[in-house]
Amino acid sequence: MVVKKIGASRRKPKIAIIGLTSCEGCQFAMLDKGKRFLDWLAKCDVGEFRLVEDLPMKEKEQYDFCFVEGNPVTAENIKLLMDMRARCKTLVVIGNCAALGGVWELKNYGNKQKTIKEVYKKMKVANPDIKEVDNFVKVDLTIPGCPIDGDEFMEIANQLLKGRTPKIPQTPVCLECQKRGYECLLQKGEICLGPITLAGCNAVCLKSKQACWGCRGLLQGGQVQNLMKHLTKKFTKDQIYRVMEVFGARDSIMKELEIEEKKNKK
Ligand code: SF4
Ligand code: SF4
Ligand code: SF4
Repeated sequence: MVVKKIGASRRKPKIAIIGLTSCEGCQFAMLDKGKRFLDWLAKCDVGEFRLVEDLPMKEKEQYDFCFVEGNPVTAENIKLLMDMRARCKTLVVIGNCAALGGVWELKNYGNKQKTIKEVYKKMKVANPDIKEVDNFVKVDLTIPGCPIDGDEFMEIANQLLKGRTPKIPQTPVCLECQKRGYECLLQKGEICLGPITLAGCNAVCLKSKQACWGCRGLLQGGQVQNLMKHLTKKFTKDQIYRVMEVFGARDSIMKELEIEEKKNKK
């Protein structure tokens, strides 16, 4: 991704922060940064920040950066997403819902018809499959996590304002976990996706002895086949899939597995 220049003038970059279907936890992770976040906002011309305003949307504004939280679940979400893409130079998705489908994607793997009948009884509701934001529009940058890490957001957001192209180092969660001396749950016999998951969360789940369920998404070059070989010695595919499904990582992991298997056959 290359950040598009804001322009020759010294004007503040125009930004929009919008939420699709989400729990809004990623926007709260930004707000949690308090003064640091406010100082950053002060350097921007904020056109939309849907979480904190109640005014009608500005329909014609053009933006330098649009930050998108949440998944395009509904027709309104999809319309808003496409509209904002057309009106911004750089579109940044924030969080697991937008990047990987999020917890909403669980329904793709279950019996959708049965579930919807149980919840809505006689009412008819649209029930499309959940798809990541990049299935609908071009994504320039992804800030991963569920929720995003507020410090990581601030670092990336400041780089964007300076016209730099932020890069998230491609290292696995295992590295952060072992640096901190946490017990390895995979070796202990649990399903942990740390070896194939992008680091940057400081292995926060492992700190509480909770295995990594892959909320930050697949590490580039992660050895998916090796991990699957290891896990299938002890667990059924269903047990492994159930863990991969929690944060919507299953489809991207399976895609990578197919690619690795094809390469190995050549
Ligand atoms: S990624 Fe997680 S914290 Fe962020 S909006 Fe989605 S569910 Fe909420
Ligand atoms: S517990 Fe998980 S993240 Fe930590 S070293 Fe073991 S496999 Fe990696
Ligand atoms: S340890 Fe795994 S599941 Fe937990 S925050 Fe980090 S990437 Fe997400």
